[in-house]
Amino acid sequence: MKLFRFDGGRIGLGIEDHYYDVTDALGVDTQAWPPVQMVQFIADFAQRSPGLEKHPKTRPVDFASLRLEVPILWPNKLLAYPVNYVKHGEEMKSVNRADLNGFFLKANSSLSGPNDPIVLPDLPGREIHHECELGIVIGKTVKNVSREEAMGCIFGYACLVDMVVRGKEERVMRKSYDSFCPFGPWIVTADEVKDPANLQAKLWINDELRQNANTRDLIVDIPGMIELASRVATLYPGDIIATGTPEGVGPVQRGDRLRIAIEQVGEMTLEVR
Ligand code: MN
Repeated sequence: MKLFRFDGGRIGLGIEDHYYDVTDALGVDTQAWPPVQMVQFIADFAQRSPGLEKHPKTRPVDFASLRLEVPILWPNKLLAYPVNYVKHGEEMKSVNRADLNGFFLKANSSLSGPNDPIVLPDLPGREIHHECELGIVIGKTVKNVSREEAMGCIFGYACLVDMVVRGKEERVMRKSYDSFCPFGPWIVTADEVKDPANLQAKLWINDELRQNANTRDLIVDIPGMIELASRVATLYPGDIIATGTPEGVGPVQRGDRLRIAIEQVGEMTLEVR
């Protein structure tokens, strides 16, 4: 299944080629603040999703006419792994590596959706880079998960762009500008991704292919990332993990068009302003 948010916080469900507005069936108030309705749906998904497409308040929608929004707006946290592909470590001449340094955090408020522009801060002379990443969505409340249990904690996957100002300031600040974490266009549930350790991920700037790598080359693999994160912090439904970027990162400029595509997950095209 696919889960998506659209048209002012409404919640949608995609089952094969059929798309439904399940906002009213779930009793979601789109005006409620904080906007955690999708996080609640993920937490209760096993109970609430069966038969939801047949609920009397569910209505079919014309998917192409919807304006998609970031599927998760207010997670409990947005974790990210640094250099997690050998070739990206080489290109950055970096001493950082996910297996040595562990994870960092980005501000949750940096999340933005498939129809939101990436807005560059006014920092003359500074390079602002794209990083193409697979995003993992956690489905359970867990702590100290073993490698063996880790895959069972994953709710789903989405495309994620980890935007960053290169430089020496604290990493969390350089990566936390508003719109610096495009995420979407929807969440694909884990059961629909055959082998998350074999997904080709690509990123283009203005039709020039800049990044093209496979998750089989991750240094810390997906179970390893969940094991490590959960040793430190309790993971909650709706938490997002940015899995680290492969080689090919580079600068973006105002007016660029950035496209990210991950097989079996989805793709989105974003304007840079
Ligand atoms: Mn990154």
